[in-house]
Amino acid sequence: MKVSVTPWRGVEVEVTVDSSKCQGHARCHALAPEAFDLDDDGYPVVTPNAATLAAADLNDAAAACPEQAITILP
Ligand code: SF4
Repeated sequence: MKVSVTPWRGVEVEVTVDSSKCQGHARCHALAPEAFDLDDDGYPVVTPNAATLAAADLNDAAAACPEQAITILP
């Protein structure tokens, strides 16, 4: 799924979780619960609340994903 958000310093980015790669271990949610909610099966859902995070925090969550399932593009 993709969500466009406008985080720190007003730069709009597109946050995507690739469901074909995601294994559902929720490290993204643990690091950035504002941005990555969990569905009933424990898989992440990108929320518009990601806009409340600094871009660096979004990048940290993406970097922590062991499956490289999270993409953040300008
Ligand atoms: S850390 Fe990556 S693989 Fe794990 S639930 Fe989050 S997006 Fe999916």
